Amino acid sequence: MPFPKIAIIGAGPGGLTLARLLQRNNIPCTVYEAERDRHTRNQGGTLDLHPKAGQRALREAGLFDQFMKYARPEGDADKLVRYDGHVLWDENKLDMPKQSDDENDKPEIDRNQLRDILLDSLKPGVIQWDRKVSHIEADPRVKGRYSIYFADGSQETDIELVVGADGAWSKVRPLLTDATPFYSGVTGVEIWALNVREKHPWLSEYVGEGSCFMFDEGRAIMAQRNGNDSIRVYACVRQPEMWREDCGIDWSDHDAAREAVVAGYFANCSDDLKSVVLESRDELILRPMYMLPVGITWPSRPGVTLIGDAAHLMTPFAGVGVNVAMADALVLAHALIGKKDGLVAKAFSDGHNIAAAVKEYEKWMFGFARENAEKTFKGLQLHFSKDGGEERAVKLRERYEAQTGTKVVESVFGTT
Ligand SMILES: Cc1cc2nc3c(=O)[nH]c(=O)nc-3n(C[C@H](O)[C@H](O)[C@H](O)COP(=O)(O)OP(=O)(O)OC[C@H]3O[C@@H](n4cnc5c(N)ncnc54)[C@H](O)[C@@H]3O)c2cc1C
Repeated sequence: MPFPKIAIIGAGPGGLTLARLLQRNNIPCTVYEAERDRHTRNQGGTLDLHPKAGQRALREAGLFDQFMKYARPEGDADKLVRYDGHVLWDENKLDMPKQSDDENDKPEIDRNQLRDILLDSLKPGVIQWDRKVSHIEADPRVKGRYSIYFADGSQETDIELVVGADGAWSKVRPLLTDATPFYSGVTGVEIWALNVREKHPWLSEYVGEGSCFMFDEGRAIMAQRNGNDSIRVYACVRQPEMWREDCGIDWSDHDAAREAVVAGYFANCSDDLKSVVLESRDELILRPMYMLPVGITWPSRPGVTLIGDAAHLMTPFAGVGVNVAMADALVLAHALIGKKDGLVAKAFSDGHNIAAAVKEYEKWMFGFARENAEKTFKGLQLHFSKDGGEERAVKLRERYEAQTGTKVVESVFGTT
């Protein structure tokens, strides 16, 4: 008896992790991805994978050693700077204790590398590129079956499990809930500096090996080192959704736009912080940030579910999104694997086992997503509050001093 047809919509970290885990357990599935091929889009910046989420999923996927080949443990060094340039905390200047297998052991990996590891682990044909889903409908003739309609007019029928791993603007979500992402109140101006060691040695030294943050009322600067000798900077402002159109900045002229952002929103910051933005001249992308309601749930529906951003889109202010997506994939895979024999036996009778697996997964996911969405919402408030940097620095200092038994004197960071 063949397996039920499982369709995963979206080849992001969530969808690919699920496909790999199912493949390892001999459960066939197909991933439908909108992009033309793996090179269509630069996948963006760096991600830190947490031991109990992203790392665990990769271990169970048999890909942990490959992850460790590219992982950058030093990439989690944090530096916090006040708007006037005063350095509140700088782990680049401290002898950081080696983190054992605990929640603080979160090496960074570039998103492209993570995606390549996952893509290369899948058998040929599992991913169908250039298959942009336009909508999905329940089959009116057969209960528990779905038809997928694609933007090019093609369709796939008789699907018994549709997993929406298609990110923020999911086409699967409307089958489960009316909720749509809303604007979080923050827009990020993402800018890049490439070949920093050679071309921007000052920037390279200032940002350090990991992330450098400035939090302040209504604005933040976040600069992160990436693996390919580049630095990605977000100059973020708390502004209305239409700010990008209404602010009078010509975004097509990147140099002028960067200068206008600094002059208009960061003018009283230290020269160093302004230089972080002005020196990052290689790219400019506007990112209005959206989120789903914290604690979103829906009544379980047999044969359809969501993982990752499609299920619980969050802003990036706690750096957990990819971890929750990969943990979702892991738990859904466990639920399906646990029902594997039943899946085969009942595949063409009543879909009962799939429904049970979806329910089991969603019960766990709603709780885990809420916990992380709450943490992210707190992170959003912290990043854009006057004392956010100081608060974070106190926490990092307490953790360091508890772990090492050493008192940190601020002069070790220098005054600016
Ligand atoms: C600016 C920014 C910075 C971030 N930084 C971090 C960070 O530091 N740490 C962290 O953990 N998280 C971070 N995140 C969040 C993280 O990127 C996401 O949580 C994660 O990528 C979610 O993975 P996913 O697989 O659910 O969705 P996605 O990564 O969004 O993947 C969805 C996939 O579905 C495809 N797709 C979309 N629509 C369709 C369609 N109609 N048909 C077929 N395919 C479709 C897309 O092309 C894509 O390949 C950040 C997010 C942003 C926006």
